[in-house]
Amino acid sequence: MSEHKDFLRTIVEEDLASGKYEEVVTRFPPEPNGFPHIGHAKSICINFGIAKAYGGHCNLRMDDTNPTTEDTKYVEALKDAVEWLGFKWEDGVRYTSDYFPKLYDYAVELIKMGEAYVDSLSEEEIREYRGTVTQAGRRSKYAQRSVEENLALFEQMKNGECKEGEHVLRAKIDMGAANMKLRDPLLYRIRHAHHYRAGDVWHVYPMYDFAHCLSDYIEGITHSICTLEFENNRAIYDWVLDTLGLTAHRPYQHEFARLGINYTVMSKRLLLELVKSGKVSGWDDPRLPTIAGYRRRGYTPESIIHFCDSIGVAKANSTVDVAQLEFAIRDDLNTKVPRVMCVLDPLKVTLINYEGSEVLDASYYPEDVPKEGSRALPFSKELYIEREDFSLNPPKDYNRLTLEQPVRLRHAYIITCKEVVKDAEGNIVEIKAEYHADSKSGVDTSGIKVKSAIQWVDAATAKIVEVRLYDRLFQDEAPQSLEDVNPDSLHIIKNALIEPAVILDRPDERFQFERQGYFYADPVDYTDQNPVFNKIVGLKDSWSKKKKIDTPILKPQVKNEQIEGEVSAMSVAEQALFDRYTGELQLNPEVANTLARDAKLSSFYETALGECDSPIGLANIIANEVARELKEKEVRELKFTPMQIAQLVKMIEDETISTKIAKQVFEEMVLCGEDPTHIVEAKGLVQISDPAFILPIIDEVMAKNPDNVEKYRAGNTKLFGFFVGQVLKATEGKANPQVVNALIEEKLKH
Ligand code: ATP
Ligand code: MG
Repeated sequence: MSEHKDFLRTIVEEDLASGKYEEVVTRFPPEPNGFPHIGHAKSICINFGIAKAYGGHCNLRMDDTNPTTEDTKYVEALKDAVEWLGFKWEDGVRYTSDYFPKLYDYAVELIKMGEAYVDSLSEEEIREYRGTVTQAGRRSKYAQRSVEENLALFEQMKNGECKEGEHVLRAKIDMGAANMKLRDPLLYRIRHAHHYRAGDVWHVYPMYDFAHCLSDYIEGITHSICTLEFENNRAIYDWVLDTLGLTAHRPYQHEFARLGINYTVMSKRLLLELVKSGKVSGWDDPRLPTIAGYRRRGYTPESIIHFCDSIGVAKANSTVDVAQLEFAIRDDLNTKVPRVMCVLDPLKVTLINYEGSEVLDASYYPEDVPKEGSRALPFSKELYIEREDFSLNPPKDYNRLTLEQPVRLRHAYIITCKEVVKDAEGNIVEIKAEYHADSKSGVDTSGIKVKSAIQWVDAATAKIVEVRLYDRLFQDEAPQSLEDVNPDSLHIIKNALIEPAVILDRPDERFQFERQGYFYADPVDYTDQNPVFNKIVGLKDSWSKKKKIDTPILKPQVKNEQIEGEVSAMSVAEQALFDRYTGELQLNPEVANTLARDAKLSSFYETALGECDSPIGLANIIANEVARELKEKEVRELKFTPMQIAQLVKMIEDETISTKIAKQVFEEMVLCGEDPTHIVEAKGLVQISDPAFILPIIDEVMAKNPDNVEKYRAGNTKLFGFFVGQVLKATEGKANPQVVNALIEEKLKH
């Protein structure tokens, strides 16, 4: 559960404190037209989480008002997801379809009040009559129908006596409203379709705007929490309840930002398309962002909940980096799961000086993990190691087995390569090696130095397993259609070898395969005959590493993210900083964003601000230069301090140095940690503002470029920059650009 208080919790607390409500009642109201995804998980965590935190309760309600898309299999998937995440709904599952009779009565009541009417315009006319954002709409002539006529028509619509599209029921609100949603919104439409629950009884189905607020009211909901796209619908929500006089103990709607994650899609329409197209194996395909997919892949409920908490609840839509979700599962499993050995691409190793066999006692957990347990690990003459853990032509810094370099077999002995066996094509098929009897793990007296320990399995006892490796489902960071699907998102290894301890006697097991990542026994396909493991996530964030390589380090990445608009949601604390930075301190939003989102940067900034009263100057250098350094380092690893950055900015402000020179000084500070004042003094970088020094240089530049002087005087004023550049260059950037500008302008006049 969240430690911090987001704006929704603040509202709930205020409402409880003021006595507006005695108990918090929330609901999670999905439409059962698809499997829930990680965005729904966020909504589940918010709604159930808030109810739990404040001693209230949360309902699970199927918002099933659309007969053509809904299905019980989705209802089951939604129930499963909520339960799996560890939440409990109050009483039974609720269904909006159960309220159809009540909703119908409310509609009749609105008609009787003259607040709703049956409209018979076509769909297209309705659209046309609605007007535009800049133009008021017109009301349909049918709005003048009498209450009796409306009642009769609505009754006929209900009884199936009208064609689809022939009539709709509309609220009579305001065709000129600035909020277009209020331009006589539709309340009911005709559908002659079978409803998966209500059967064939109904021929009219309520629209979201009518059904939702009333369902909330019927259930005694206090806080109706939904995503931002419903912001403009709030006015209808309020109108319906107020007009019907349902004002005592009524619910209010509050919106938060929906969750988006990069490299995947969250729209149920696209997810359905993916499933239908066969590009994935089903709704629970481990590559999908569905809860069923994550669950099958091996994510834990704890990791998903932790992720949802960590991204905070924001009021502005944004995209969260999938690395953050991967971090959450890695973090969860790191200390929880046993570590075992699996070889994905086996290379045979024969120990020429080993006879017989033995069973090693190998700990499941490293020493820094407070869990205990070990397994029996058979060892004998024939083993398999990972093909990539041996190299004939090792690159620099290769720490594994080579012809010259011994390596440790994890939990066992050190081995030295003696011979490489190749097949007719020259492929390495076997390594003949010697083991060192006195190098046994834990009792090593051999004195042999090795650079790493590698995984291996014993050939006689290893089991063949299938391993499924997953990559991003989409190639594009913000995919728009199925065309962006990554064709290599699934890689199946049929003949991986695993140590015998990993043969499961119970399902639902996760392991760390040493040096490979975290794996989960596939809950659907795993059998004793064909054990299948899904890779949940790698040990490191290999993706961001890959990214780093093709992004030059000097490029300020923080800034990049903003330009592409791919940023994650701000926490409440971050939002508060952002507001102060853009408000009181007048930073531009981009810089404020960079600082506010990064705790290291914002605290660095705050400290520097205490030393120097130049919020904008400091912010610029911290959001760019300092941010670049902190990408790779922690604050304590920096050679320079916030105080020194403050000094640097002061020197810019009092014109001791130019901003250009400041960058040079900064580079020095990064390397040596010296005070900027010392660097400037020692290197003679003080800005030169004295015209007596600058004028002769200008004269020289003009003398050297008589043509340009002539052209400038003849009207080619673009050449002004040329002269300034030349003078600055001649002073190695030390001349005060403003002074240079003024002097050149003066000189070129004559
Ligand atoms: P669609 O994709 O068809 O627009 P939906 O995502 O709105 O559907 P619903 O079943 O109506 O799906 O959503 C149920 C609840 O989950 C709603 O309260 C909705 O606001 C919330 N929700 C849906 N998607 C997200 C998301 N990406 N982030 C946060 N909450 C979400
Ligand atoms: Mg929806």
